Amino acid sequence: MPRVRFAPSPTGFLHIGSARTYIFNWLYARHNRGTMVLRLDDTDVDRNSDASVTSIFEGLSWLGLDWDEQYRQSDRLALHRAAAQAIFDKGRAYRDFNLAAAAETTERSGAAGTSRHGPMRELPREESDRRAAAGEPFALRFRVPEVAGHVGFADAVYGEVSKAFEDIEDFALLRSDGMPTYHLANCADDADLRISHIIRGQEHLSNAFKHQLIFEALGAESPTFAHLPLLMAPDGMKLSKRVHGPVVSVTTYRDAGFLPAAFINFLCLLGWSPKNDREKLTREETVELFTLEGINRANAVVKFTDEEPFDPKALWLNAEHIRAMAPDDLARELVPFVGPASRPVPSTSDVGQASRPVPSTPDTPPQATLPADSLAGSSISRHDESPADPALLDKLRHITPLIQERMKLLRDVQTVADFFFADQLPPYDSAELIPKKGDAAMAKSVLVKAREVLATAEFTHDGLDAALRAASVELGIKAGQMFEPVRVAVCGRKTAPPLFGTLEVLGRETCLTRIAQAIEKL
Ligand code: GLU
Repeated sequence: MPRVRFAPSPTGFLHIGSARTYIFNWLYARHNRGTMVLRLDDTDVDRNSDASVTSIFEGLSWLGLDWDEQYRQSDRLALHRAAAQAIFDKGRAYRDFNLAAAAETTERSGAAGTSRHGPMRELPREESDRRAAAGEPFALRFRVPEVAGHVGFADAVYGEVSKAFEDIEDFALLRSDGMPTYHLANCADDADLRISHIIRGQEHLSNAFKHQLIFEALGAESPTFAHLPLLMAPDGMKLSKRVHGPVVSVTTYRDAGFLPAAFINFLCLLGWSPKNDREKLTREETVELFTLEGINRANAVVKFTDEEPFDPKALWLNAEHIRAMAPDDLARELVPFVGPASRPVPSTSDVGQASRPVPSTPDTPPQATLPADSLAGSSISRHDESPADPALLDKLRHITPLIQERMKLLRDVQTVADFFFADQLPPYDSAELIPKKGDAAMAKSVLVKAREVLATAEFTHDGLDAALRAASVELGIKAGQMFEPVRVAVCGRKTAPPLFGTLEVLGRETCLTRIAQAIEKL
């Protein structure tokens, strides 16, 4: 059974690229009935932040994807040191007393500009032991083979890759303060946790050669690597928070009203495609179809502009997922967007800011495995702290079927259904009340008649339909000429959801008040 892991460093908010890495690992685990491990790579104490840990858990909680085991790398320092010791004992690492300071800076960089081997590499063991025993600080460096040769592996995405030993510097395993480097901690943990597949961003491909050397020195079987293509911005640069802002943060999508299922669907298609090239996929279908072979090497572009922050495909998928939902489930999802504590529409200054309480903390046990079909429904009922106001939820249940086809984002409820919630309609131009091929006088007689028939009509879809049609016959006008002024009177605009359902939900009293106000305008 495969064992995969998502190993974020809690040094920033949850980036959509990290979310995609999580999703691909999760899909691989679930498709193959394997184990999903969540491991916080939190050994870099200077760069870690609690806010970042919160953002990771909050993002994963919103996505509604579970995991089976959870670790913190900082709890496992003894294991990392033991691994370093084992490598040292085999003669595959050496103490570097000179370059202790440089070790920190060259850990990840590939040590451009520094010599490949430090002068300490050939220090006799007795002298090394003596200086260490005397308390002299040192970094522990991997002894990269000096012979001609290379280290390589078959990446599940990029195929055969290799790097010559001479192009790899003697990288650090332990820093001078005794802390493990990223390379050592990762490999020691991956080996100890019996990770079978390392699925992560392509930016780590160059690290994988060092990792391969460490696994080999540890005597551990090397996992299969699958590096994921980069996410790029339309400007051709790698997607980054610093350059591209909120579009890079998972919470931006959540706060704008993406459904987790649609967002996951969108992210999956950034660098992966199912054999049949289908696009709209449920979570269950994606689990079913997901294979590493379906991952492309080409970098994936997330499209956005200053005017439209979301990729058109993401919006299209979200609309499709919204349409496919049971109206009652959708009504629950809409609650946070219309309630009194309605989520603010994020502005650029909101990047990565949590706008609601943290649903789970890192110290909670891993989420229970949810049956696949429970993942398709509402996330809000699962993650929101407080239950929805029952009256609001009931109202939304009635409104939802009228607007379901008209939304791309959940927050669109604020623009397509605003008049259901307003005590007073915002001002509109009285010319809007005039029906096609009609005039102000026709508008007025329509509204006067409507007020009369709606005072007694049965307030159901069919009752309203019959009453208003009969009224148009009585007035000798087309049905459309009857409906138009009524629609504008109750909604404040011409483009609105289907009329009879709208009247029914608004109720007799509101409709009569608004029609009376419209008559006043004419
Ligand atoms: N902590 C690393 C990161 O966040 C994980 C790298 C890996 O998956 O090996 O980039």
